[in-house]
Amino acid sequence: MIRSYRLLAEQTDYPFHVGVTEAGTKMQGTVKSAAGIGTILADGLGDTIRVSLTADPVEEVKVATHLLRSLGYRKEGIDIVACPTCGRCHVDLEKMVDQVETATLTMKTPMRVAIMGCVVNGLGEGAEADIGICSEKGHGVIIEKGEIKTRLKEEELVPHLIGEIKKRHEAMTKKA
Ligand code: SF4
Repeated sequence: MIRSYRLLAEQTDYPFHVGVTEAGTKMQGTVKSAAGIGTILADGLGDTIRVSLTADPVEEVKVATHLLRSLGYRKEGIDIVACPTCGRCHVDLEKMVDQVETATLTMKTPMRVAIMGCVVNGLGEGAEADIGICSEKGHGVIIEKGEIKTRLKEEELVPHLIGEIKKRHEAMTKKA
């Protein structure tokens, strides 16, 4: 696929729609798409992209968005910083990150959001974030620029965070 696009680019100026067909499962297809589409984009070729996964189409959009962002083609949007989790984490952090990512995927407002598995280290590691969560067992805190703003029950954390991100996004959109 990479060779084909490169060969074609030597022969025509037509715009290219780039994708890796039948890329496979979420994990395998993401890696193949990152390698294939990413290489073509890094070559400066490619005008539109399509990520194809044997998964929910929402996942395809997420992968495409991250791919464009990682190559610097897309600067706007919510940048989620999440910890890798360890023995201190007592919540399903992967699910929390997934919920926030899905709810904020189409927002173009630049904002850094931290989702951390504990308060002990999460507070410091999430200090650069505009807003975020540090979880504990059964509860957690909402943080802004490393400072604790609100203490909430575990089940309230994600809805509250999404609500705050939406409020900021709407305020920024009105200003623009
Ligand atoms: S932020 Fe807390 S839970 Fe997450 S990796 Fe660091 S120490 Fe572990």
